[in-house]
Amino acid sequence: MRIRAQISMVMNLDKCLGCHTCSITCKNAWTNRKGTEYMYFNNVETRPGVGYPRDWENQDRWLGGWELRDSGKLRLRGGNKATRLLKLFYNPEQPEVDDYFEPWTYDYETLTTSGRTRHQPVARPRSLLTGDRMEIEWGPNWDDDLAGTQIARQDPNLAHATPNAPASLEDVRAAVDGMAAYAHAGTGERIRMDMQDLFMKYLPRTCNHCLNPACVAACPSGAIYKREEDGVVLISQDACRGWRECVPACPYKKVFYNWETGKSEKCTFCYPRLESGQPTICADTCVGRLRYMGVLLYDVDKVEAAASTRDPQGIWRAMLDVIADPHDPAVVAAAKAGGVPDAWVAAAQDSPVYRLIKEWGLALPLHAEYRTLPMVWYVPPMSPVLSRLEARPGLADADEMRIPVSYLAELFSAGDPEPIRAIINRLVAVRLHMRAREVGDPEPACDLSPETLDAMYRLLAIARREDRFRVPTSPVASRDEALDAQRTRGFGASATSLKGGFSA
Ligand code: SF4
Ligand code: SF4
Repeated sequence: MRIRAQISMVMNLDKCLGCHTCSITCKNAWTNRKGTEYMYFNNVETRPGVGYPRDWENQDRWLGGWELRDSGKLRLRGGNKATRLLKLFYNPEQPEVDDYFEPWTYDYETLTTSGRTRHQPVARPRSLLTGDRMEIEWGPNWDDDLAGTQIARQDPNLAHATPNAPASLEDVRAAVDGMAAYAHAGTGERIRMDMQDLFMKYLPRTCNHCLNPACVAACPSGAIYKREEDGVVLISQDACRGWRECVPACPYKKVFYNWETGKSEKCTFCYPRLESGQPTICADTCVGRLRYMGVLLYDVDKVEAAASTRDPQGIWRAMLDVIADPHDPAVVAAAKAGGVPDAWVAAAQDSPVYRLIKEWGLALPLHAEYRTLPMVWYVPPMSPVLSRLEARPGLADADEMRIPVSYLAELFSAGDPEPIRAIINRLVAVRLHMRAREVGDPEPACDLSPETLDAMYRLLAIARREDRFRVPTSPVASRDEALDAQRTRGFGASATSLKGGFSA
């Protein structure tokens, strides 16, 4: 057992407003320079939708992440470093700027310098790449809030998802809407995007600072590394040669190429803030207060086996096994022997992310089937009840809600609906418990004690900042050193690193 520490994040999607504050604060902090105009280290997607960059989940197109060979060994889907070098001058898997969007500004000056004209002057769009006038045809949130269900229909997660089908729904529709011909949403029926069937949710995304990062393994220059002390994945701007192999290799498309500097850049998890005990800027400014950050202890020796789990639906469960119990004396001893400071072990024992992921089993990773073992996890969202013919006590369960369980399963559990059902029904139990406490309804029948339901309510609904974020200061840097590192050394500022991943 070799124990290391990982700073991780959990996002409670039930509370995301889609306000994009996280994206804007991140952009102001990290990507407000020339060459980074199109980059959003943090972005918020409306789902169903195609995301940013467009179609990023289509790994048949981008060949991102890892695949399992018949031998049981992992291989980068896009080929090993040697194969990738052969594609240096022609690589069809490289996203183009149109897959993101062509950044633009407006001729604002014409509004003030225009002479007297018959019509009001117009600030026309101009490309930030070429300086030429342009027609705007796509942007980073073009399909925000389901703007155009034609785009939403292209969401690849809809391909295998089926609608929720509560028993009363068919009758309600037939009776109320006169839709006698409405076909029941049975097994195998595709989700429809007709007005009455629409559903949506927001999906905020950052780099996942994966335990088995494909970006690290794909980099021919060794410029991308995972810091030993906190697991943050960084790109050394000194070492990066601009080969761009990391861009298609990341299945989440969270590495970006800076066309001005000729180097790749990515989310840094705001490491100077982490080093001074602060959460990332996206988490700290989140209007919905839905982000949680803390330390996880994990067993390095189990990482490769977890990433190599044959059944894609079993990968997230194997990840739970990689995350070690910080209260186990053997884990604590191994952590200390491996150089994890006492303050970090204490932070892991009081970690809100550990509680959400492992103790309470409320969070899942995004697309664990890509086998990078992402360390940003999500609490799947509840949604309005589809319909209810007969009043009965309590709230609906997962299968009666508007967002189809099978759709959420495509995102968070490789298509297995059971973990989604289990989590949503636990969230329902928290609400029923609060109704029992406040208005005297019966306590929910579930496997959680009232004390646990109370604790879940406090953390999920009303947690203070210090409860949502338990980020210990860096073992190696004081606040001044951290800020100095940011100023003088660019994005990659760690002396220690974990290079390579587990296979190439
Ligand atoms: S999401 Fe994972 S693979 Fe992608 S850039 Fe981040 S660490 Fe690398
Ligand atoms: S700031 Fe928070 S609530 Fe707003 S879009 Fe981002 S994650 Fe959602």
